[in-house]
Amino acid sequence: MGEKGQVPEKKRIIAATGNRGKLEEIARLLSGLPYEVISMAEAGFAGDIAENGSTFEENALIKARAVWEATGDTVMADDSGLEVDHLGGAPGVLSARYAGESATDGDRVRKLLNELSGVPADKRSARFVCAIALILPDGRETVVRGTCEGYIAGEPAGKSGFGYDPVFYVPEFGMTFAQMGEELKNSISHRGNALRKVLDVLKDEAGEFCR
Ligand code: IMP
Repeated sequence: MGEKGQVPEKKRIIAATGNRGKLEEIARLLSGLPYEVISMAEAGFAGDIAENGSTFEENALIKARAVWEATGDTVMADDSGLEVDHLGGAPGVLSARYAGESATDGDRVRKLLNELSGVPADKRSARFVCAIALILPDGRETVVRGTCEGYIAGEPAGKSGFGYDPVFYVPEFGMTFAQMGEELKNSISHRGNALRKVLDVLKDEAGEFCR
């Protein structure tokens, strides 16, 4: 913030996600910066974006570019998923569609546990990956990756979170993502780690903005 009386107005940052939880997490992390986080819908973007890239980074960029081209604003888009080593990195970029288009989180977890049936605990290593693409109004692009290492549990445990959280076990904490509070999960998660990297870029921009 500048001299007395000079309160910089907030810049908009459009989070290219339809997921309320992700939007709130981004808003929380950016709360000290002069950015107002808004959703694609609030920015008037209603298009469908085909996520047909073969990497998390490609998909994040596809989404961010589509929204940036339509709005010219600062845009942030993420793509995330689970990589299981025993399955050659599957479900990977197909994590959301692992058990078919209309399947539930429960269906995806069941399919994963079936695929790993009989695989011993120490061979069930996995990681969550999150790529975030940031595009600034002048078109400069940054893509970062955050990861979180763990193991696929033998059975689901815990009630919080979403997706594969009940079977993603983090040995350092002796619990699954679904057994952690939101705050602890965010402090170690793939998305939290990627967001903190993007934050550094935005802080530089905000510095310029506040001068
Ligand atoms: P997307 O990034 O919204 O395309 O989500 C990819 C899919 O990966 C989600 O539908 C979940 O199944 C899974 N996923 C991504 N991040 C998490 C997480 O933090 N916990 C559990 N599942 C996740």
